[in-house]
Amino acid sequence: MGRLLWRDRQRLECRLIDFHPTGCYTNRVIIVLKIGSPEPEIQQVVEAVKKFGYEPKLIRGVERTIVACVGDERNHHTLESLIVLPQVEHVTPVQKKYKLVSRQYQPQSTIIDVAGCLIGGDTFHVVAGPCSVENREQTLETAKAVKSYGATLFRGGAFKPRTSPYDFQGLGRPALEMLKEARDLTGLPIVTEVMSPQDVDLVAGYADVLQIGARNAQNVPLLAVAAASGKPILLKRGISGLVDEWLLAAEYICVHGNNKVILCERGIRTFEHACRNTLDLSAVAVAKQETHLPVFVDPSHAAGRADMIIPLSRAAVAVGADGLLVEVHPDPATALSDGGQQLKPQQFAQLMAELRPLAQVMGRKLNAGHAPQ
Ligand code: PEP
Ligand code: MN
Repeated sequence: MGRLLWRDRQRLECRLIDFHPTGCYTNRVIIVLKIGSPEPEIQQVVEAVKKFGYEPKLIRGVERTIVACVGDERNHHTLESLIVLPQVEHVTPVQKKYKLVSRQYQPQSTIIDVAGCLIGGDTFHVVAGPCSVENREQTLETAKAVKSYGATLFRGGAFKPRTSPYDFQGLGRPALEMLKEARDLTGLPIVTEVMSPQDVDLVAGYADVLQIGARNAQNVPLLAVAAASGKPILLKRGISGLVDEWLLAAEYICVHGNNKVILCERGIRTFEHACRNTLDLSAVAVAKQETHLPVFVDPSHAAGRADMIIPLSRAAVAVGADGLLVEVHPDPATALSDGGQQLKPQQFAQLMAELRPLAQVMGRKLNAGHAPQ
């Protein structure tokens, strides 16, 4: 498995240049000076801008002067620190920091081929399966059930990022073996989480899609090493992550040579406690508009309650998401993690039945599934 050292700046820069001979790394920054700044102070800003490798252009108004700066992001100098100069009123970058993930860079939507499932295309894909892989029977039974109701990918946690160290942490490698067996049995590609850079090779040996969880959404070394595996990556939004931070995490993956990123909104922490988190559908709409990447919704971790999964999933289809990630367990009452939010197979069947006409209205196909065996 190809390793890319995240610290290897020189190699990273070569990659950037390889990708972008067209110069999409031009950075534009506006520096507004305080009213009446004397000429020597204006020149001090001009010199500082030049020192950072930017080209300054002075725009002189009646009362104040603005310095418009153009430079190359890859020199890693930020002009934002010039705010400390007393004559500077504010420093405003003109464009967004993310580039490779943006629709400006690539107008057409990215379609990711996961073992024949075209994610981000006409089909609305549903990833379903238990929060944790607990044992072989639970895993295989759930995989067969979700497939029969139309899920196109299977999920299950082998490495669990639990809030408490006393909670079930996942079975690790044996769980990966069970997931493989589930794939062999059903043909469903596997989505499973990887929590640390050291485990990427192991998990990538089993998974069709590597999941990077909300708690690791800004773990830069993990993003880089996972990217280097070449596997598609389902990237959750951080628990309190801004949309910009989420998209920049995706940008890290792309910068490391892997543009197979599926964004996944899983609810954010707000003041509201009626549900475990607050599903931010605006973020889905923004991500769809701003980026060319497929965007999924995870109503299970957003709601934390099984009774909210169907209504939130309907909303996800309507807002234009490309798919769902839903937790399903044969007996949620005995689940080792997230029991309260997991659907029983029959409830999952109902979810799929309700989504089918909605998907059609939105111009998407939803896999029909087949009668349970
Ligand atoms: C999960 O999908 O199993 C999970 C732990 O989700 P999140 O990272 O969104 O909490
Ligand atoms: Mn879970």
